[in-house]
Amino acid sequence: MNVTRREFGRLTALGVAAQFAPALNAQSGKKIGYAVIGLGRIADHFMRGALLTGNSAITGLVSGHRDKADKIAAQYNVPQGSIYSYENFDEIAKNPAIDAVYVALPNSMHAEYTIRAAKAGKHVLCEKPMCLNVAEAEAMIAACKTANVKLMIAYRCQYEPIHLKAVEIIRSGQLGKIQAIESAFGFNEDAGEWRLDKKLAGGGPMYDVGIYCLNACRYLTGEEPVDISAYATVVDHDGRFNSVEENVGWTMKFPSGAVASCTTTYGAPMDGFFRVHGSKGFLECDPAFNYDHLRLRGFYAGGRVNENETTPDPYQFQAEADHFSNCILTGKTPKTPGEEGLRDLTYITRIYRSAGIAI
Ligand code: NAD
Repeated sequence: MNVTRREFGRLTALGVAAQFAPALNAQSGKKIGYAVIGLGRIADHFMRGALLTGNSAITGLVSGHRDKADKIAAQYNVPQGSIYSYENFDEIAKNPAIDAVYVALPNSMHAEYTIRAAKAGKHVLCEKPMCLNVAEAEAMIAACKTANVKLMIAYRCQYEPIHLKAVEIIRSGQLGKIQAIESAFGFNEDAGEWRLDKKLAGGGPMYDVGIYCLNACRYLTGEEPVDISAYATVVDHDGRFNSVEENVGWTMKFPSGAVASCTTTYGAPMDGFFRVHGSKGFLECDPAFNYDHLRLRGFYAGGRVNENETTPDPYQFQAEADHFSNCILTGKTPKTPGEEGLRDLTYITRIYRSAGIAI
């Protein structure tokens, strides 16, 4: 299907442009080349997703493990000369096949590699959480502005059809006035993971998965929280939680008076969900934050919804890569720029402060 630029703009507003993007880009031809920094679990999803777009390609790899990088390079046709280590990373500045980087490293390394990539003249798609604190986030935004490159935070759910549908139903007013939201997300973390080391992770599940609930409450309401209060606890004194918290529970008040109640954990297999209670009905997404098989159900003034996601993994990564590449190709600002990550870090700081933890 061919779509004109005007139609594409309308589809973007409806949140369904991603599926038509290959046709649009087939007309312009240019693909954005990404160097992937950190070849771990999430990088695999991203690379498979990018490959499905019509406007993105994997053209560089950055890793401390050459053997792993060689295998992935063969899979994605990345030339040997476009494989970098963390030491010679800055050499990407001289590689014209690399337009952008995808930062998929432990949280504490996001700021350094975003700033180094910006100095090398490359656009940056950075995984969530953006970094460890507000000062780092501001430095990342400033570095990208100075270098005149784009910065997007990889909030995949903001590009996912079921979440977009929930936002559309709420914005249409069919749910009435939002009164309350509940959201949770967590998992049982294994001992020895970098996520349990505060120096690498910044904190516990709040940084890693609680951020999905926080971000969802913000885009579902379309409001920014004005009041926050929180608790952080450890239940399992088994050596895993000497550095970071195990559980966080927090509540937020929004300017309209809507209230949110959220929890996150590294101590239980907590399937992610959100529930939105409006004066004319409710919406529930459960599971809400998986890579696929999301389910949205609810009833409200204008009708009801009972929908299963039909876009299997790695669609969410395809959609985010497609969006960022289109922003680079057309000069637009990403839907989730650095400022979006900075806002979440501002609230995460307040959540930890309220829970009595310094970050
Ligand atoms: P991972 O442990 O699977 O991969 C991390 C990569 O970083 C590995 O390739 C590792 O070799 C490399 N690395 C370099 N220096 C390291 C160090 N000092 N310690 C540990 N690893 C080091 O982690 P992951 O699950 O892929 O997470 C990476 C980032 O992606 C995190 O910021 C995480 O929050 C984010 N993430 C996002 C999603 C999402 O759905 N958007 C899901 C999972 C993770």
